[in-house]
Amino acid sequence: MMDAKIVMSGIRPTGLLHLGNYFGAVQNYVRMQQSYNCFFMIADLHSLTTHPDTKELKENVHRVIAENIACGLDPNCVAFYCQSHVQETSELYLYLNMLAYKGELEKTVTFKEKVRQQPENVNAGLLTYPVLQTADILLHRASLVPVGKDQEQHLEMARNFANRFNHRYGEIFPEPQAFNFGSDLVKVPSLDGSGKMSKSENQNATIYLADEDDEIRKKIMRAKTDSGPTDSQTPKPDYIEAIFLLMKLVSKEEVVNKFNEDYSKCSIRYGDMKNQLADDMIEFISPIRNNVKDILQNKKYLQQVMEQGAEKARKSAKTTMELVRQAMGLNYY
Ligand code: ADP
Repeated sequence: MMDAKIVMSGIRPTGLLHLGNYFGAVQNYVRMQQSYNCFFMIADLHSLTTHPDTKELKENVHRVIAENIACGLDPNCVAFYCQSHVQETSELYLYLNMLAYKGELEKTVTFKEKVRQQPENVNAGLLTYPVLQTADILLHRASLVPVGKDQEQHLEMARNFANRFNHRYGEIFPEPQAFNFGSDLVKVPSLDGSGKMSKSENQNATIYLADEDDEIRKKIMRAKTDSGPTDSQTPKPDYIEAIFLLMKLVSKEEVVNKFNEDYSKCSIRYGDMKNQLADDMIEFISPIRNNVKDILQNKKYLQQVMEQGAEKARKSAKTTMELVRQAMGLNYY
């Protein structure tokens, strides 16, 4: 493992994990954990940009940890830690802020979205969100960042900030790349096909790993369909494409093929398709959900996981920050 590539990624503790988080992020974490040197983080500081009320933070942090572990993440194998437990993050964030320009930050798509969503709280942390994210990645000198497609632009900014630092102060950081195990970056659509599944938007069209079986079935059966194509060449509307995409994630290949053939023969029955999708989705989610409940019972174990992760992350952060201070000339004796 000494020479393995370094991997870093994070998830905010802002609510229940959903299928987008699973297929965009957590599934990749689990697939990478054996063969790479991995740092996976609960981004509690990032959550303060949109969730200034911290009453539910502890519960949310515990839940996200349990959800990741229930999905197969092994805290003995990776450094699995909370962002706020590694204070070097804040130091690197400060230095990188001097290399990030207001204009480029204001142009970020996610920033503009957040300005629309919370016009009453356009805080500086929201503006510099991609800088904090870059600090998280560079703190471990990571080169691979498993994330969903929505994070592509942030990764491009991270490369810019890393290069700017390297040019100004010396080559310390590799260029981080967005990464998906095996194929392109994933975007899990919302059930109505109008956007992506998300912790904060499209809640009725998002399937959570905590959803009970009957909720999963209800959400899927409610998904919009129509009376089907009338011509074998009819392109799939967004809401039908979304159902096919979701089916591809959890159903067997032959099942997806059958419905695709039915579609091109104009004989598709969307009621049957949604029933099948609900069965397969429940089979996929229910073991994870039950596992989460068990893990959440054991607070002592959760604490151990956090302590163990923080220790590994701090060790790596400390080494990087010594190099950073040296390179920047912040060493006066
Ligand atoms: P959210 O957008 O739900 O608040 P986060 O911002 O915490 O989630 O993102 C955590 C990870 O989940 C990121 O890697 C992000 O790319 C991924 N992700 C979130 N939603 C989706 C989605 N609908 N499809 C694919 N990946 C997603």
